[in-house]
Amino acid sequence: MLNDLYQEIIIDHSRRPRNFRRMDDATRTVEGYNPLCGDKLALYLKVEDDIVRDISFVGAGCAISTASASLMTESVKGKTRAEAQAMMQRFHELLTADQQAGGDFGKLAVFSGVREFPARVKCATLAWHTLKSGLEGKQEVVSTE
Ligand code: ZN
Repeated sequence: MLNDLYQEIIIDHSRRPRNFRRMDDATRTVEGYNPLCGDKLALYLKVEDDIVRDISFVGAGCAISTASASLMTESVKGKTRAEAQAMMQRFHELLTADQQAGGDFGKLAVFSGVREFPARVKCATLAWHTLKSGLEGKQEVVSTE
C-alpha cells in the first residue's frame, strides 16, 4: 500500500502521536467522528490574533487517523488561519483529486497512498475536517458521514 518510509512515519506517529494531550486553556474544542471506522477525536485549539498558537488532540482511532491527527497538529501549529486553511485544501486534493497537484507536501505526502483506498480517506481527513470546523468557530461534533 505505502512505501516503507511512508509506512514508518505513519506507524511512528500512530504509536507516539505528537501534541496528544488535553488543553485546559483552549479557545475552541471540537469533536470529530468517523463512523465508518469508529475513529474519534477531540481537537483543542488556541487561536490568538488569527494564529494557531497551540493545537492538541486526544482520541482513539485507527493508525491512519491517529497519525494524520498527529501530523496535522505538527503542520498547523504556529500557522495563520489562512495558511492552515490552504494546507487543509491541499491535503484534501492530495487524497481525492484525480490530478495530483504538484508541490511539496513535506511529511503530509505520506498519505498520498491512502487515495487508493477510499474507505481510508475518511480516516486520514477526519482531523482536518475537525480542524476546519474549529477554525470556522463551529462548536459541534463533526462527522465524516
Ligand atoms: Zn480509521
